[in-house]
Amino acid sequence: MITVIGFDADDTLWVNEPNYLEAEKALCRLLSGWKPEAEVSGILFSTEMANLELYGYGAKSFVLSMVETALNVSNDRVDAQTIREITGLGKSLINRDVVLLEGVEEALQQLSARYRLILATKGDLVDQERKLSKSGLEKYFHHIEIMRDKKEANYRRLLSHLDIPAAEFLMVGNSVKSDILPVLSLGGHAVHIPFHTTWQHEQTDHLPDHPLFTELSTIDQLPQFIASYEINH
Ligand SMILES: [Mg+2]
Repeated sequence: MITVIGFDADDTLWVNEPNYLEAEKALCRLLSGWKPEAEVSGILFSTEMANLELYGYGAKSFVLSMVETALNVSNDRVDAQTIREITGLGKSLINRDVVLLEGVEEALQQLSARYRLILATKGDLVDQERKLSKSGLEKYFHHIEIMRDKKEANYRRLLSHLDIPAAEFLMVGNSVKSDILPVLSLGGHAVHIPFHTTWQHEQTDHLPDHPLFTELSTIDQLPQFIASYEINH
Protein backbone atom coordinates (compact mmCIF):
# COMPACT_ATOMS: atom_id res chain seq x y z
CA MET A 1 0.00 0.00 0.00
CA ILE A 2 1.49 3.33 -1.10
CA THR A 3 0.72 6.22 1.27
CA VAL A 4 3.34 8.81 0.33
CA ILE A 5 4.59 9.88 -3.10
CA GLY A 6 7.85 11.79 -3.39
CA PHE A 7 8.53 14.02 -6.36
CA ASP A 8 11.81 15.28 -7.68
CA ALA A 9 11.46 18.87 -8.95
CA ASP A 10 14.04 19.81 -11.62
CA ASP A 11 13.18 18.20 -14.97
CA THR A 12 10.41 16.17 -13.32
CA LEU A 13 7.96 18.99 -12.52
CA TRP A 14 9.59 21.88 -14.35
CA VAL A 15 12.26 22.61 -16.98
CA ASN A 16 15.76 22.98 -15.54
CA GLU A 17 18.67 21.36 -17.35
CA PRO A 18 18.05 23.16 -20.70
CA ASN A 19 18.44 26.50 -18.83
CA TYR A 20 21.80 25.43 -17.44
CA LEU A 21 22.89 24.22 -20.88
CA GLU A 22 21.97 27.57 -22.35
CA ALA A 23 24.04 29.42 -19.73
CA GLU A 24 26.90 27.00 -20.35
CA LYS A 25 26.77 27.67 -24.11
CA ALA A 26 26.87 31.42 -23.48
CA LEU A 27 29.88 30.95 -21.19
CA CYS A 28 31.67 28.87 -23.84
CA ARG A 29 31.05 31.58 -26.45
CA LEU A 30 32.27 34.26 -24.05
CA LEU A 31 35.51 32.37 -23.40
CA SER A 32 36.05 31.04 -26.94
CA GLY A 33 38.92 33.51 -27.44
CA TRP A 34 40.88 31.58 -24.79
CA LYS A 35 39.95 27.97 -25.56
CA PRO A 36 37.68 26.09 -27.99
CA GLU A 37 34.08 25.91 -26.74
CA ALA A 38 34.11 22.13 -26.20
CA GLU A 39 37.20 22.44 -24.06
CA VAL A 40 35.64 25.23 -21.94
CA SER A 41 32.62 23.01 -21.43
CA GLY A 42 34.84 20.16 -20.19
CA ILE A 43 36.72 22.49 -17.82
CA LEU A 44 33.41 23.82 -16.46
CA PHE A 45 32.25 20.27 -15.71
CA SER A 46 35.47 19.28 -13.94
CA THR A 47 35.41 22.55 -11.96
CA GLU A 48 31.83 21.82 -10.88
CA MET A 49 32.78 18.29 -9.85
CA ALA A 50 35.78 19.57 -7.88
CA ASN A 51 33.56 22.12 -6.10
CA LEU A 52 30.65 19.80 -5.35
CA GLU A 53 31.87 18.73 -1.92
CA LEU A 54 32.51 22.35 -0.89
CA TYR A 55 29.54 24.17 -2.42
CA GLY A 56 26.88 21.50 -2.94
CA TYR A 57 24.47 21.53 -5.88
CA GLY A 58 22.51 24.40 -7.37
CA ALA A 59 22.56 27.75 -9.07
CA LYS A 60 24.97 29.70 -6.88
CA SER A 61 27.57 26.93 -7.00
CA PHE A 62 27.18 26.89 -10.77
CA VAL A 63 27.87 30.65 -10.98
CA LEU A 64 31.01 30.31 -8.84
CA SER A 65 32.19 27.43 -11.03
CA MET A 66 31.59 29.51 -14.18
CA VAL A 67 33.77 32.32 -12.77
CA GLU A 68 36.48 29.85 -11.76
CA THR A 69 36.34 28.30 -15.24
CA ALA A 70 37.00 31.73 -16.77
CA LEU A 71 40.06 32.14 -14.51
CA ASN A 72 41.26 28.62 -15.34
CA VAL A 73 40.93 28.83 -19.13
CA SER A 74 42.58 32.28 -19.26
CA ASN A 75 45.35 31.56 -16.73
CA ASP A 76 43.92 34.34 -14.57
CA ARG A 77 44.04 36.90 -17.39
CA VAL A 78 40.29 37.20 -18.00
CA ASP A 79 39.10 40.81 -17.80
CA ALA A 80 36.67 42.27 -15.27
CA GLN A 81 34.05 42.94 -17.96
CA THR A 82 33.89 39.21 -18.79
CA ILE A 83 33.51 38.31 -15.11
CA ARG A 84 30.67 40.86 -14.96
CA GLU A 85 29.01 39.16 -17.96
CA ILE A 86 29.37 35.76 -16.31
CA THR A 87 27.72 36.87 -13.07
CA GLY A 88 25.02 38.37 -15.29
CA LEU A 89 24.50 34.98 -16.98
CA GLY A 90 24.11 33.47 -13.52
CA LYS A 91 21.57 36.06 -12.43
CA SER A 92 19.47 35.59 -15.56
CA LEU A 93 19.57 31.83 -14.99
CA ILE A 94 18.32 32.30 -11.43
CA ASN A 95 15.66 34.82 -12.48
CA ARG A 96 14.13 32.73 -15.26
CA ASP A 97 10.46 31.94 -15.29
CA VAL A 98 9.50 28.49 -14.11
CA VAL A 99 8.07 26.41 -16.95
CA LEU A 100 6.01 23.44 -15.79
CA LEU A 101 6.21 20.21 -17.77
CA GLU A 102 3.04 19.11 -19.48
CA GLY A 103 0.47 17.35 -17.31
CA VAL A 104 2.22 18.11 -14.01
CA GLU A 105 -0.47 20.21 -12.38
CA GLU A 106 -3.28 17.77 -13.28
CA ALA A 107 -1.30 14.77 -12.01
CA LEU A 108 -0.49 16.47 -8.69
CA GLN A 109 -4.08 17.58 -8.31
CA GLN A 110 -5.41 14.04 -8.76
CA LEU A 111 -2.77 12.36 -6.63
CA SER A 112 -2.94 14.86 -3.76
CA ALA A 113 -6.56 13.83 -3.17
CA ARG A 114 -5.51 10.27 -2.28
CA TYR A 115 -1.88 10.40 -1.16
CA ARG A 116 0.45 12.54 0.88
CA LEU A 117 2.80 14.22 -1.59
CA ILE A 118 6.28 15.38 -0.71
CA LEU A 119 8.77 17.31 -2.78
CA ALA A 120 12.33 16.01 -2.49
CA THR A 121 14.85 18.05 -4.41
CA LYS A 122 18.50 18.91 -4.06
CA GLY A 123 20.12 22.21 -4.90
CA ASP A 124 20.40 25.69 -3.53
CA LEU A 125 17.83 26.38 -0.78
CA VAL A 126 16.94 29.95 -1.81
CA ASP A 127 16.81 29.10 -5.51
CA GLN A 128 14.69 25.97 -5.07
CA GLU A 129 12.27 27.76 -2.74
CA ARG A 130 11.93 30.59 -5.24
CA LYS A 131 11.25 28.17 -8.11
CA LEU A 132 8.68 26.29 -6.05
CA SER A 133 6.90 29.49 -5.14
CA LYS A 134 6.94 30.67 -8.79
CA SER A 135 5.64 27.25 -9.91
CA GLY A 136 2.38 27.61 -7.96
CA LEU A 137 2.68 23.92 -6.98
CA GLU A 138 3.42 24.44 -3.28
CA LYS A 139 -0.20 23.80 -2.29
CA TYR A 140 -0.08 20.17 -3.41
CA PHE A 141 2.75 19.22 -1.09
CA HIS A 142 2.45 18.08 2.47
CA HIS A 143 6.20 18.49 2.99
CA ILE A 144 9.07 20.12 1.08
CA GLU A 145 12.58 18.78 1.53
CA ILE A 146 15.56 20.52 -0.06
CA MET A 147 18.29 17.94 0.36
CA ARG A 148 22.04 18.46 0.29
CA ASP A 149 22.35 15.27 -1.75
CA LYS A 150 20.13 12.42 -2.88
CA LYS A 151 22.00 9.36 -1.73
CA GLU A 152 20.56 6.41 0.17
CA ALA A 153 21.51 7.93 3.57
CA ASN A 154 19.75 11.21 2.70
CA TYR A 155 16.54 9.38 1.81
CA ARG A 156 16.79 7.15 4.87
CA ARG A 157 16.99 10.24 7.08
CA LEU A 158 14.07 11.89 5.27
CA LEU A 159 11.79 8.85 5.59
CA SER A 160 12.71 8.37 9.21
CA HIS A 161 12.04 12.05 10.07
CA LEU A 162 8.63 11.84 8.46
CA ASP A 163 7.88 8.37 9.87
CA ILE A 164 7.30 6.88 6.42
CA PRO A 165 7.92 3.13 6.05
CA ALA A 166 9.98 2.64 2.85
CA ALA A 167 7.45 0.05 1.62
CA GLU A 168 4.74 2.76 1.58
CA PHE A 169 6.89 5.27 -0.27
CA LEU A 170 7.02 5.79 -4.02
CA MET A 171 9.53 8.23 -5.53
CA VAL A 172 9.06 9.83 -8.95
CA GLY A 173 11.90 11.49 -10.83
CA ASN A 174 13.95 11.94 -13.99
CA SER A 175 17.33 10.89 -12.58
CA VAL A 176 17.95 7.16 -12.19
CA LYS A 177 21.00 7.89 -10.07
CA SER A 178 19.40 10.38 -7.65
CA ASP A 179 15.68 9.59 -7.64
CA ILE A 180 15.47 5.86 -8.33
CA LEU A 181 18.42 3.71 -7.21
CA PRO A 182 18.74 5.01 -3.62
CA VAL A 183 14.99 4.60 -3.00
CA LEU A 184 14.96 1.04 -4.41
CA SER A 185 17.87 0.09 -2.14
CA LEU A 186 15.85 1.24 0.86
CA GLY A 187 12.92 -0.99 -0.14
CA GLY A 188 10.82 1.83 -1.60
CA HIS A 189 9.05 2.00 -4.97
CA ALA A 190 10.32 4.15 -7.81
CA VAL A 191 9.00 5.54 -11.08
CA HIS A 192 11.38 6.95 -13.64
CA ILE A 193 10.05 9.58 -16.02
CA PRO A 194 12.94 10.43 -18.34
CA PHE A 195 13.52 13.99 -19.54
CA HIS A 196 15.13 14.64 -22.92
CA THR A 197 18.23 16.23 -21.39
CA THR A 198 20.19 14.84 -18.42
CA TRP A 199 23.15 16.54 -16.74
CA GLN A 200 26.36 14.59 -17.33
CA HIS A 201 26.76 14.07 -13.57
CA GLU A 202 23.34 12.36 -13.35
CA GLN A 203 23.79 10.08 -16.34
CA THR A 204 23.62 6.31 -15.96
CA ASP A 205 23.93 3.78 -18.74
CA HIS A 206 21.44 1.20 -17.51
CA LEU A 207 18.01 1.06 -15.96
CA PRO A 208 17.50 -1.08 -12.89
CA ASP A 209 15.92 -4.50 -13.27
CA HIS A 210 13.87 -4.44 -10.08
CA PRO A 211 10.30 -5.51 -9.19
CA LEU A 212 9.56 -2.15 -7.52
CA PHE A 213 10.84 -0.11 -10.48
CA THR A 214 8.77 1.24 -13.38
CA GLU A 215 9.46 3.62 -16.22
CA LEU A 216 6.72 5.85 -17.60
CA SER A 217 7.07 8.18 -20.54
CA THR A 218 4.98 11.08 -19.20
CA ILE A 219 3.69 12.27 -15.84
CA ASP A 220 0.06 12.18 -16.93
CA GLN A 221 0.26 8.37 -16.88
CA LEU A 222 1.13 8.45 -13.18
CA PRO A 223 -2.31 8.56 -11.43
CA GLN A 224 -3.64 5.61 -13.39
CA PHE A 225 -0.39 3.73 -13.07
CA ILE A 226 -0.35 4.09 -9.28
CA ALA A 227 -3.98 2.99 -8.98
CA SER A 228 -3.32 -0.23 -10.92
CA TYR A 229 0.08 -0.74 -9.28
CA GLU A 230 -1.56 -0.85 -5.86
CA ILE A 231 -3.96 -3.52 -7.02
CA ASN A 232 -1.10 -5.66 -8.38
CA HIS A 233 1.22 -5.33 -5.37
MG1 LIG B 1 15.60 16.10 -11.62
